Amino acid sequence: MHNKTISELAQGLRAGDFSSVELTQTYLDRVARFNPQLNSYITICEATALQAAALADQQISDGDAPLLTGIPIAHKDIFCTDGVKTSCGSKMLDNFIAPYDAHVVSLFKQAGAVMLGKTNMDEFAMGSSNENSFYGPVHNPWKSGAVPGGSSGGSAAAVAAGLCVAATGTDTGGSIRQPAAFCGITGLKPTYGRVSRYGMIAFASSLDQGGPMARTAEDAAAMLQVMAGFDTRDSTSAEQPVPDYTAGLNDDIAGLRIGVPREYLGGGLDPAIEASIQLALAEYKRLGAELVEISLPNTELGVPTYYVVAPAECSSNLSRFDGVRFGHRCSEPKDLEDLYKRSRGEGFGAEVKRRIMVGTYALSAGYYDAYYLKAQKIRHLISDDFRDAFKQVDVIMGPTAPSTAFGIGEKADDPVTMYLSDIYTIAVNLAGLPGMSIPVQPVDGMPVGLQLIGNYFEEAKLLNVAHRLQQVTDWHSATPAGFE
Ligand code: GLN
Repeated sequence: MHNKTISELAQGLRAGDFSSVELTQTYLDRVARFNPQLNSYITICEATALQAAALADQQISDGDAPLLTGIPIAHKDIFCTDGVKTSCGSKMLDNFIAPYDAHVVSLFKQAGAVMLGKTNMDEFAMGSSNENSFYGPVHNPWKSGAVPGGSSGGSAAAVAAGLCVAATGTDTGGSIRQPAAFCGITGLKPTYGRVSRYGMIAFASSLDQGGPMARTAEDAAAMLQVMAGFDTRDSTSAEQPVPDYTAGLNDDIAGLRIGVPREYLGGGLDPAIEASIQLALAEYKRLGAELVEISLPNTELGVPTYYVVAPAECSSNLSRFDGVRFGHRCSEPKDLEDLYKRSRGEGFGAEVKRRIMVGTYALSAGYYDAYYLKAQKIRHLISDDFRDAFKQVDVIMGPTAPSTAFGIGEKADDPVTMYLSDIYTIAVNLAGLPGMSIPVQPVDGMPVGLQLIGNYFEEAKLLNVAHRLQQVTDWHSATPAGFE
């Protein structure tokens, strides 16, 4: 049952082949069996999942239930869930029971989906390996001892290992796409503003975007259909109509112009990964697409720009964790200053503190113009590169990450090398564009992701292009050994 797609499961539920309670129990059993080794869940919601499943069975038998009804999913622990611990991977929020649902969470509830639990993540979504979680690292189901990528590594590992049908993730600089690539699944970061950020704990508000992580493009489309849409509670939410994401999945892609940025190939890219990317591009040519060499000249400025903008926004967003209103509070503070200092000192991990310090520095008087303002200007140049590219091509393709999943501990002491894991994904967030990662030919048994970048609000096109490849290849259907 755990290898089926959302539409297959929805059919099975409607045909009475199995109930949502049975399906949910199957997943809960797998979670109980495999989570101790993977650590992909922080919280498992067994009782409420089974209750939701029973309700879903009722709705299905009453008829007219939405597609996701009774389908077991998981939410990244960055999304607030009413009455359920929402830790954001941090000791700071280890005691935090959210008093309301994030918009995305309430949409999935309305759609009848069953929440199995909350997935592990890098603390406050800062990281590329899931090693920054207060709850310990997540293991990649493809190789124990390898990272799953980050920061949505718990969601990626859970989907890849069949510990949920699909999951939510968030992507500020690559955190949906890079773990999707490392775990061999399909992940989509929508256009900035497509999915409401209400109740999604803020890291860098001008970059953060929630999106689906699933086994196939078709499943990602079904998930995005639920998540996307305008929300008055998020002032940056886009008032754009939501198209039917599944309607065009099978559209012919003959004549599609695929831009391949010369800056994304060669350089620090593992040649074996480049070969996998070329193999996928050759498949696209066979499907009638045309490959066009393009240039995104400011590519190398993406990482340094991001590491000014994201820490600046995080230093501001994380000032709300002060030991007063919610979250960790130190014991017996002497005075207010001691309360702030010790609560924050004890509650935040090393990477979060590093970012807060960098961001506070970049925003301070005298440095603002030199760093923050400069970074914002370069951000425009990066967006302009994409705008020019989309005059010539329909989608852009390249690798998602420069390597396959590395070992736990391998890069943990070297933040700059770690930051480079997002070299191909970060610019997409800076520009606010939609991006996707889909599995292509593995290297030495480890998954590799092909990144697809689309123009604003062209998620349907990305899903169509991804789905077409998944119709003629089976890279996306490989399952890690031991998790069949
Ligand atoms: N790896 C990047 C960082 O550490 C991106 C994280 C993300 O997308 N949330 O900030």
